[in-house]
Amino acid sequence: MNETKNKEYQLNNYRIEKINNKFLITTDHGSWCFLNKEDFDLLIKEGFQEKPELFNVLEEKGIILTNENKDKIIKLLKDRFHFLFQGTSLHIIIPTLRCNQKCVYCHASSKPIDDKGEEMDEETAKKTVDFIFQSPSKTIIIEFQGGEPLIKFDIIKYIINYAKKLNKEKKKNLVFTVVTNLTLMNEDKMNYFIENSVGVCTSLDGPAELHNKNRPFMNNVESYKFTEKWIKRFTEEYKKKKIENRKMNALITITRESLKYPKEIIDKYVELGLKDIHLRFLNNLGDARPVWESINYSPEEFINFWKKSIDYLLEINKKNIFLRERTCFIILRKILTNIDPNFLDMRSPCGAAIGQLTYTPNGDIFTCDEARMVGEDIFKLGNTKKDTYKKILTSRQTCGIITSSINDSQICDSCAYKPYCGICPVCNYMEQGSIIVNILKTARCKIYKAQFTYLFEKLQHPEYKKIFVDWIKKSE
Ligand code: SF4
Ligand code: SF4
Repeated sequence: MNETKNKEYQLNNYRIEKINNKFLITTDHGSWCFLNKEDFDLLIKEGFQEKPELFNVLEEKGIILTNENKDKIIKLLKDRFHFLFQGTSLHIIIPTLRCNQKCVYCHASSKPIDDKGEEMDEETAKKTVDFIFQSPSKTIIIEFQGGEPLIKFDIIKYIINYAKKLNKEKKKNLVFTVVTNLTLMNEDKMNYFIENSVGVCTSLDGPAELHNKNRPFMNNVESYKFTEKWIKRFTEEYKKKKIENRKMNALITITRESLKYPKEIIDKYVELGLKDIHLRFLNNLGDARPVWESINYSPEEFINFWKKSIDYLLEINKKNIFLRERTCFIILRKILTNIDPNFLDMRSPCGAAIGQLTYTPNGDIFTCDEARMVGEDIFKLGNTKKDTYKKILTSRQTCGIITSSINDSQICDSCAYKPYCGICPVCNYMEQGSIIVNILKTARCKIYKAQFTYLFEKLQHPEYKKIFVDWIKKSE
């Protein structure tokens, strides 16, 4: 007997993307499936009650809603947007804008090492930590960025001490990280970071010749040797001290020059024993702006490079060498699990203000790290010396920016990748001079679309799916 024939159902909201000769169907709560042409036609015509096995798949995925699955689908939707109810967790503090490198794409518009510009003093540091602890988030991550933050190691220590002191009463899950070019690292600082459980993240753009070209050190000294030395040293020390939950992290920024090195970049990360690589495209921010034409590339050129790199990475993983690409990892967690990984730059609304805030040396508050790099005050929300967290988070300006990061435009609303995607008001503003844009013309939309399609295609192959599942299982 056909038990589905008279079963009551309601069609859920779904979106379609044709990939090769199959139809990808996605839902707001993140479930998805591929249908062949025959089943797709039955979905469109609502003829699936005649085919119980199709009805069951659609019910299981929540593409149709029934009395049996509705509670599960509501829970999945709630879980997917869990981040909306948390409060700001990531707080990026800029102790100084000075730096001893002059990277070709420096988004932070760093100042020369001998600049007499503004540095964070103890009073501002204290007010900033007081402000941060007003966030209702149970987790507080304080991340030090720059300039080169190790130039103000004294302020880093002051902030860590003061935050720890406040936390005796607040009892938050308090986490510290520092993003450094490693050129000022020494044994004492390394020991301090390890003893105080401060995560360390650096930049590694690939093999020495590429890294040195993208990230020149002052006085023509090559920066690569510092990076390699300290990545190895930290890794060795973590191992020696049996610290298993901590690893050295490195970020890479892809310039036009980098496009020549898809394999060499991966090989360098493998050689240094790193477990994650994040092939990030350039943003037209800070010092990248005046040289944009010489360092940038088209979205198509980037995607071509990215696909070549991932194809190579997958071949390496097939040989049981573990190295995971972070954009893939973020997207795959959205596709293959029920929980959004809460990556602030790829979610809707994005992390601006509600997920992260950034504090400059004088205590100015920006919606996010990228926002301070625009060179205008459009994303500046206030100052820690005079404003409260509540005032900042409820202001019309903040709400307007958050709203502009929700991917609910007509275009996004008909895109199959909407449940997993996110838009960036800062990048939109830099590309089109407004936070409301023609989304299809943005580089991010073109790149994300191609990345989603690539991953959904690869998921059709069991050998690649196995690697992807393995990447997710070994979560951070
Ligand atoms: S505005 Fe852009 S850079 Fe800032 S948090 Fe949102 S997505 Fe990220
Ligand atoms: S930004 Fe582009 S890829 Fe993302 S949901 Fe909107 S249309 Fe789709």
